[in-house]
Amino acid sequence: MKALLETGQVRRLLIRGTNWVGDSVMAIPALREVRRLLPRTHITLLVLPWVSDIYQGSPWVDAVWLYDRKGRHAGAAGRIRLIRSLAQGGFDAALLLQNAFEAALLTRLAGIPLRAGYRRDARGWLLTHAVSIDPRLEARHQTYYYLDLVERLLGRKRTLDAPSPAQEKTTPELSLRPEDHTLARQRLEQEGVGFRGKVVGVHPGAAYGSAKRWIGDRYAQVLDRLTQTQGAEVILFGSRQERPIAESICGHMAARPLVLSGRTSLSELIAMIACCDLFITNDSGPMHLAAALGIPTLALFGSTDQVATGPLGSAAIVLNKNVECSPCLLRECPIDHRCMTRITVEEVFQEAVRMLRAGG
Ligand code: SF4
Repeated sequence: MKALLETGQVRRLLIRGTNWVGDSVMAIPALREVRRLLPRTHITLLVLPWVSDIYQGSPWVDAVWLYDRKGRHAGAAGRIRLIRSLAQGGFDAALLLQNAFEAALLTRLAGIPLRAGYRRDARGWLLTHAVSIDPRLEARHQTYYYLDLVERLLGRKRTLDAPSPAQEKTTPELSLRPEDHTLARQRLEQEGVGFRGKVVGVHPGAAYGSAKRWIGDRYAQVLDRLTQTQGAEVILFGSRQERPIAESICGHMAARPLVLSGRTSLSELIAMIACCDLFITNDSGPMHLAAALGIPTLALFGSTDQVATGPLGSAAIVLNKNVECSPCLLRECPIDHRCMTRITVEEVFQEAVRMLRAGG
């Protein structure tokens, strides 16, 4: 499995990135390791448009190509267009962080000679380096899943074999261009944020389903109390589809938070989260963005597994009641949503205050 490195053949590498915001953040340690192991290789990352902003200014890749499967790469003609582009890219090898059969098929049809990825989705025969999943990964954070693939293909040592957690290897980090930070702050000021006190960002949605969401009126109570007692300015983030959730929270609040749900691009969201002093969130893509930016992040977990997908970094805290049915990984709760209803307003408020004070 060291062939990719030892042959010295990889001058141009294509990496097929993951499709979701959270997964893309959790794959950053793997990208960082590829860059470290192949410092002279030109690395092109192929990703869907909606996650591409994560890699703006990234030191781990040289180019980002968009797989616009709802636009110019839609349908059979679009796929052929993409295959032609990949074929003309002069890639020596493709590394597939995404698990789909299609990722292997596209790189095979593009004639990329070395194709490496996990043996999943019945695609092993399309790969020249098909890697079986190490069963130990089941008990590890998802960052290990991507990192271990890279290390088995390119590295000498595996972080998975290390006796203690290798945080410097597995913690995602997101960098932000100073000009993006400045623009985000200007936009927030135009929207009425005065930066007179602490700025608290909130992501009360979760695209996966309602099982992951803490209760809206409890968010409202916590945010009102933070406004009244800490002088906090509150910003609600989310997608357009999540705007009703934010509006419902506003309807329960005495204070008037800024609602930006559906009104930011991903790059604006990243830069605006970076302007916050605290980020309170369900288990979601924005949670991973905040933690990777080093923003103090208070994550409310219930139906999902914090060991596998919790926020990483020293500034992240998880509240989880660890009820007997958790983690169920369901989209909707089939019972009484006790994993979330047992998280009280008081404990979220107290933890938020503690984190705000610790932040200075
Ligand atoms: S089944 Fe249990 S863990 Fe899953 S959403 Fe419901 S209460 Fe939460």
